[in-house]
Amino acid sequence: MDDSKLTELRARMVRQQIEERGIRDEAVLRAMRIVPRHLFVPERYQHRAYDDGPLPILARQTISQPYVVALMIAQLMLSPDDRVLEVGTGSGYAAAVLSRMVAQVYTIERHEKLVTYAQARFERLGYDNIQVRHGDGTEGWPDHAPYDGIVVAAGGPSIPDPLRQQLAVGGRLVIPVGRKQRQQWLVRLTRLGLNQFEAERLSPVAFVPLIGAAGWSQEED
Ligand code: SAH
Repeated sequence: MDDSKLTELRARMVRQQIEERGIRDEAVLRAMRIVPRHLFVPERYQHRAYDDGPLPILARQTISQPYVVALMIAQLMLSPDDRVLEVGTGSGYAAAVLSRMVAQVYTIERHEKLVTYAQARFERLGYDNIQVRHGDGTEGWPDHAPYDGIVVAAGGPSIPDPLRQQLAVGGRLVIPVGRKQRQQWLVRLTRLGLNQFEAERLSPVAFVPLIGAAGWSQEED
């Protein structure tokens, strides 16, 4: 497919799947018109890269539905100077979208293979304000804290305490939380003061499980 066709597919994806469902954050819309989503999915799914749904990637994980990526990022209410932490790099797509909106993106993934692939994509695209690390994101990434925004792309039983603590005062954390491994509510936590947090329940979602010290201990079948 040539570039102008792909640009048109992305413009249509943003218009029909995102804008028409009420997301108006111009920075999110702009970033999603730019980032080549088809380069973040396995080759055999490339023809579906701009469809309205999640797609399988390596290690039995998924690249989230474009609308869900937009919804989560819009809820962070980001500014160009912000620094953001993402837990669950997966394909690297959401980190790539974030990197077009803020100063610096830090992203952690527990599957090493996914880290390697995501890193290669960022290099190929010249997205040099993203740092990727292999590890357990439920512990956060203390070296670069505090973060203006934290986004968790996998669902946990509760909000990991290290992530709360690594949020800047005034910062926002968006995470799927639920008692079942694949059924959650999207929750936004705002840090109002050193020990003051406000939680809001946004919408029901279905993410892959968050596996780690402050998440689920292992994946169910
Ligand atoms: N943002 C991704 C979505 C990936 S799905 C994208 O745009 O493609 C969620 C990812 O979270 C999976 O790759 C899974 O391996 C990862 N994950 C689950 N628990 C994790 C943890 N504790 N730390 C880091 N990554 C985790």
